Amino acid sequence: MPVARVMAASSGSTLACLPYGTGGDREGVCLQVRLGPHLLLLDCGLNSLDALAVDTQPAAWAICSHAHAEHARGFLALHHRYPDLPIYTSELTGALLSLNWPSEQPEPFWQTLAWRSPTQLAPDLQVQLFPAGHLPGAAAILLTYQTPQRAYTLLYTGDFFLSNSRLVEGLSLEMLRSLAPDVLIVEGRYGTARHPRRRQLEKQLLAQIEEALMREYSLLLPVPPLGLGQELLVLLRSHHQFTGRDVEIWVAGQVAAACDRYLNLLPQLPAAVQICPPSTTVLG
Ligand SMILES: [Zn+2]
Repeated sequence: MPVARVMAASSGSTLACLPYGTGGDREGVCLQVRLGPHLLLLDCGLNSLDALAVDTQPAAWAICSHAHAEHARGFLALHHRYPDLPIYTSELTGALLSLNWPSEQPEPFWQTLAWRSPTQLAPDLQVQLFPAGHLPGAAAILLTYQTPQRAYTLLYTGDFFLSNSRLVEGLSLEMLRSLAPDVLIVEGRYGTARHPRRRQLEKQLLAQIEEALMREYSLLLPVPPLGLGQELLVLLRSHHQFTGRDVEIWVAGQVAAACDRYLNLLPQLPAAVQICPPSTTVLG
């Protein structure tokens, strides 16, 4: 997810943003934000911590918006380098986070926050997470810094999606409508263009898959192992065009591992998906 490189609007030096990374597979997203005397790290998708000082913590707190690699893969290295740095995320993201380190499977080194529950990080600093759509557990992060004169707010959307998808409900703008944040850091992946409805895109994709199967082709769908892979599996297993049909689906190991995590999280996923039986074979 590319995030615009910004220096936030500031009042003196009250609010500032230093991007260590703004997106892409190589760079990942990692933003250091300052609110008054407080430094926070928003996401750590960095492949390497070279840009961060070795002996000085880059922030007093770190917050992970969601479990996608380009936002989260650097958190384990971050924890190893700064073991006292508290890392917060949503409960669902906490359940998915270790998929980023399949060979290490670390014990949880993060703390989880409930949706929409304001949490005091310091007497004058508060964090609140809102469901952002896009991926189960993905959060928009609202920070509030209270000074004697006024409160300053910063909203970081992380990756977000307004429409409902198969495995997560979309970001509810109603919840955020009354906010007037002093700083908004927003993802820009889809630009400002209007895109076709998701259901329409799904229909087009399924029509193409159907045609290929009719011609007895085998299909290879290269997908990220977390998120889109599971969305497509649910689609293929639940859409009326494919239900009851003998279509053999093989998945790569990382996709399957994420499916297993999702199974454990079923009660927290949309009701429609809770009745969709998993039926796939794992590629060796
Ligand atoms: Zn994402």
